[in-house]
Amino acid sequence: MSAAACLFCRIVRGEIPATLVYESPDVIAFRDIHPQAPYHVVIVPRAHVASLAEVTDPLVPGRLALVAAELARRDGYAERGYRTVINTGPDGGQTVFHLHLHLLAGRLMTWPPG
Ligand code: 5GP
Ligand code: ZN
Repeated sequence: MSAAACLFCRIVRGEIPATLVYESPDVIAFRDIHPQAPYHVVIVPRAHVASLAEVTDPLVPGRLALVAAELARRDGYAERGYRTVINTGPDGGQTVFHLHLHLLAGRLMTWPPG
């Protein structure tokens, strides 16, 4: 998948609308179109990386995780807690092949996940 055709690259470039909740020079976050919790955002590096398996710079997933913690604090979920998820590859449930971290909150999460 080229970056030109990648769905999340297109959202990063503003070609497809999304409800942005966070923007920095290297990361954006937006509401998931099919939310799995009352609060469900997807945190995405602006630079295209297909999945966690392709990451070479440890700062990239580190930044996504810190943005998740910042958004959870900002939006009032830090005390009750929340879940962060990176799905990787077909068995991991990944459907969009541009690295992203899910931040889910606003309900009790169950374990194990499905
Ligand atoms: P994955 O399954 O790859 O871990 O997560 C991809 C996520 O992207 C899914 O939760 C899906 O609902 C979300 N998604 C897919 N297409 C769009 C879209 O066009 N806009 C937004 N905001 N989310 C999308
Ligand atoms: Zn991409």
